[in-house]
Formats: sequence, structure tokens, C-alpha cells
Amino acid sequence: MMQTIDNYNFSGKKAIVRVDFNVPLNKETFEVTDDTRIRGALPTIKKILNDGGSAVLMSHLGRPKEGPEDKFSLRHVIINLSGHLGIDIKFADDCVSDEALAMKKALKPGEVLLLENLRFYKEENKDKDGMKGFAARLAEGADVYVNDAFGTAHRAHASTAIIADFFSTENKMFGYLINSELASIDKVLNESKSPFTAIMGGAKVSDKILVIENLLPRIDNLIIGGGMTYTFVKAKGGRIGNSLCEEDKLDLALDILKKAVANNVKVYIPTDAVNADRFDANANTAKSKTDETPDGWMGLDIGEETIATYIKVITESKTVLWNGPMGVFEMDKFAAGTTAVAKALAEATAKGAFTLIGGGDSVAAINKNKLADKVSYVSTGGGAMLEYMEGKELPGIKAIRG
Ligand code: AMP
Repeated sequence: MMQTIDNYNFSGKKAIVRVDFNVPLNKETFEVTDDTRIRGALPTIKKILNDGGSAVLMSHLGRPKEGPEDKFSLRHVIINLSGHLGIDIKFADDCVSDEALAMKKALKPGEVLLLENLRFYKEENKDKDGMKGFAARLAEGADVYVNDAFGTAHRAHASTAIIADFFSTENKMFGYLINSELASIDKVLNESKSPFTAIMGGAKVSDKILVIENLLPRIDNLIIGGGMTYTFVKAKGGRIGNSLCEEDKLDLALDILKKAVANNVKVYIPTDAVNADRFDANANTAKSKTDETPDGWMGLDIGEETIATYIKVITESKTVLWNGPMGVFEMDKFAAGTTAVAKALAEATAKGAFTLIGGGDSVAAINKNKLADKVSYVSTGGGAMLEYMEGKELPGIKAIRG
């Protein structure tokens, strides 16, 4: 039987916890600019401490190339974490050194030790041969392993999967964050109320194809937005100017539309757009139908007519899943569509719908509009959520579920 965090008594135990502290930092001051992921890990850490256990936290931060780099140091998250927990945080400036092991061993009940960035070692994620020894070193000195890093659950890394082999079934488990992430996704996949609308945006259709295919038997409406719009529009014979298009995915787009018909799914492709004469925040803009984009122009956001249709469909839904922006929302001139969708999700939630948002950009749009507490669930893992929704077995999940 799989162990659960609720049933576990951490009293007198040392827990090694894989958290996801891969948070954005201010480039000059290195302050945490969005602590959603840190806040996500707090229930698990608090449970361990309140039971009378101690927590050794490990995470990656960014993508360091080789060895330690100050801009990727987890030292930068200490102030934030310490503020949330109301205690001092001990810090080991190397995750597997003798000193780190000594600090682990000296840790007392109620204390928290944060290890330095796991990815300062290639054995964490790149050097497959070295992973086992590295994982063994991370496991040393700990009685129990808790994985609460949903954002990396789709990676077979030392700290997310291999380390689980060093603990018996009763001494490894998911933390509260992974539990709630999985519960929210399972709810959408298996217990959705109709009408169920999936909104897929972002740059490329190729990234979303598997998840769309897995969703088609479950959903009533598929809303398309973002750059991938134009692969569909072109496949249907429209003029797309310089808009983003995956030329080699035109057949695939038509195939999705066919499968949607077979599954009784209504597909919404943007009908009008805000176009730009270049990919730039200060570009000149003009409106057109999506299938009549003038030469030399590119569609960078959905237009007013599309926004009105999308708001209606979303607010009339009982289940909504959103992944990927409707336009180049990083630039104010092309953010209106994404903002409108974010607000429509909040409205649907207020009317009783279950709404799930995943993917860095959609989550950023929700946060930018201060709507995180007005939707049902904001996922901390874009890639992991998509892979789980594709029906794939995630290595970090399998390592514990078996
Ligand atoms: P993804 O990572 O696939 O979810 O794509 C997100 C990115 O798609 C964001 O950075 C957006 O700026 C970009 N994007 C959204 N709409 C468009 C568009 N119409 N043309 C080009 N890029 C877009």
C-alpha cells in the first residue's frame, strides 16, 4: 500500500523533501518575484515540523550549465521561506558534501535545512551513470522521502525518481502539493461536469497535440488561441500573412478537426485578430479576419469578435481547463485576449464551474490579473500537467505509486 502524508507521523524523523523552488528571481537583486511555488510547499513542511520531525529541503533553480553559479543559488529563497515559516532556515552550500551530511545529521526536530541547487551537479539530471550514487548521497541521513515537486514530476532525475529506491514503501510518499495537483487533474479528466471546455493556446500546436487527442473524448468544446491558430487557419485554406505557422503540421491540424467531429466536440478557432507589422511591443497594429491576414502582417492576439465568443462559451461551461495564452500577452498591445480569457475563467468559477489553469504563461496571466484565488486550481507544473493529461506515466509519480 502506498504511504500517505496524512497517515504518517514524522515525530523524531528526518525527512528529505524534494520541493520545487524553481522560482523567478529579480535579475539585479535576486529577490523572489513570484513565490507561488514556495507557498505551495508550505503545507508539507509544516506538517513535518508540527509532527515533531525535521525537514531537509532540496530543489533545483534555473538551468545552470556547469557547476555553481551565484545567480542560481537557492540561498536567494531563504528570506522568503523563512518569512513564511517564521523560523530560521539552515543552509548547506553544497547538496552532497560531507558538510551537508553533517548538517543533516545534526538537524533537530522542528528545524529546516535547505540544500544548495541540485543542478550544480550533472549527476542530478544529465549524467545518467552518476545518478544512482548521487541519489544515494542525497538519501543518506534521512529516514523518509517526500516528493512534493510537481513541476519536475515528469523528469526521471536523481532527486525526483531514483532516490525513492533508497526508501521502503512505508517511508516514501507524495507531499500535499503533488496530492492536490493530481486530485485537480484527475477531477478534470475523470469527473468533469458538462459542458467541459478545454482552452489551448501558446505558440505551437505540436506541443499540445497529444493532450488535445487525449482530451477529445472527454470535452464538449475546444477553444484554440495563440500562435497555433494559424496552423489551423492555413490548413483550412485561409491567408495568414507572416503569422506563426507550423507548415509540417497542417495535416495534423486537419486530422484534429476530423477527430473533433467524430467525438462531437465543437472547435472554436479565432475568427478575427489584432495584427502587427512586426514582432515588437511598439509595432503598428490593425485588425482583420484571421483568414484574411494581409501580406506583411502577423496575428498576435485574438480580436474582439473572438473574445466575445470565447467569453460566452467559457462562462457557460461547468468545467474549464486552460493551457497557453491567446496572444503575445507579454506585450501590452497583444494582451487583451489572454486577459479576457483569464477574467472569463474567474466568472465561470464564481458561477460554480471547476476551473484548472496550467502552464507558465497562463498562470502568469492569472497572477498578473490577480485572479489566482478566483479560479479553482492553479497548477505549479505546466509540462508535468500536460504529460499527465496526455496519459503518460510520470517518473516522479511512478517512483512512489509503483
Ligand atoms: P507556449 O510556450 O507554447 O505555451 O507558448 C507561449 C508563447 O506563445 C508566449 O510567449 C506567447 O508570446 C506566444 N504566442 C502567443 N500567441 C502568439 C502568436 N499569435 N504569435 C506568436 N507567438 C505567440
